[in-house]
Amino acid sequence: MEFRDLKKQYIKYKEKIDNSINAVLNTGCYIQGKQVDGLEEELADFAGVKHCITCANGTDALQISLMAMGVGYGDAVFVPDFTFFSSGEVIPVVGATPVFVDIDRKTFNISVDSLKKAIENVIHNTNLIPRVIVAVDLFGQPADYTGIKGIADKYDLLILEDGAQGFGGKINDAMNCSFGNISTTSFFPAKPLGCYGDGGAIFTNSDEYNDMLRSLCVHGKGMDKYDNVRIGFNSRLDSIQAAVLRQKLLFLNEELMACNINARLYTEYLEHCVGVPFVMKEATSAWAQYTILLKDAGERKRVMEALEQQGIPSMIYYRKGLHKQSAFKDYQLDFQDCSVTDDVSERCLSLPMHAYLEEWEIAIITDTICKAVKG
Ligand SMILES: *Cc1c(COP(=O)(O)O)cnc(C)c1O
Repeated sequence: MEFRDLKKQYIKYKEKIDNSINAVLNTGCYIQGKQVDGLEEELADFAGVKHCITCANGTDALQISLMAMGVGYGDAVFVPDFTFFSSGEVIPVVGATPVFVDIDRKTFNISVDSLKKAIENVIHNTNLIPRVIVAVDLFGQPADYTGIKGIADKYDLLILEDGAQGFGGKINDAMNCSFGNISTTSFFPAKPLGCYGDGGAIFTNSDEYNDMLRSLCVHGKGMDKYDNVRIGFNSRLDSIQAAVLRQKLLFLNEELMACNINARLYTEYLEHCVGVPFVMKEATSAWAQYTILLKDAGERKRVMEALEQQGIPSMIYYRKGLHKQSAFKDYQLDFQDCSVTDDVSERCLSLPMHAYLEEWEIAIITDTICKAVKG
């Protein structure tokens, strides 16, 4: 059994994907170009956002967005403690200070209460200027953007939505990657919309950000890439990856529906023996991960071992909060309280999740888990 079965997807759509890759090989255009332009239009349309700018990966997308927002030395950027390293990593890279915010116990996304406390603390106890909230759509579920927007308005902060795990998720009909002043996603193969290498995209409704982002992605170009008006990056998407993504985008909705059916099955079989994911009433997750909560670290270990014995992969996303990563040891603040992250990271476990998981596989996985829990 695979944790995220990319091969099954490829085999199902092999002819279409192979043809689209071969078509690119025959054009002689391998970076950006017509495929990338077409993809950007289709992604913007899908997300319901005016501009989409593709780039080399989801981490670049975040870093370039912070640069476009003019974030730098002396600025505080708020980021949930429980997320993939990238969400926080890009903040010191642009010279700003990350402030780690605890998560909501039910959704695992940034806690609006903790966010408010962290901002107040930064204002009263540091010399930093609060600038940006990085809101992560963790495991595919949109963050609480109603709450986050309220806080952003109150304190005059920008929202950077990290939708790397969330492309295709939504709140009512508003799609993930439409909630930030700038939003980003990743096309790393295992993400909800993945290519066959690295890739990323940035979304915004602002014409000014659009111009700035396009410049930053291509060596700070002005009129063209040999007219350089600012320091930028080489962060572009390959034409082959764009062609693959355009094919995969055609069946993304179908796959997301299958994931939602699988999530419902998991929950039905598991809710009596372990903690199951909580999805907000108006929200739909893109199900990058299906993550359960065990009683304690010991029970998690037992469940992982039982699964492994059956040849079932499981992963710990995430083993510790960002504030516990040694890379961030110089960014600890006295008022920081990430006790919910500390608790969740001891007990969480992510299970195989993708559109091609069969009901009988879910039955075996859940049966193994419930038996291991009951001992
Ligand atoms: C994967 C991921 C990223 C980074 O994307 P890459 O394309 O791997 O650089 C950023 N944030 C989150 C939450 C992610 O899961």
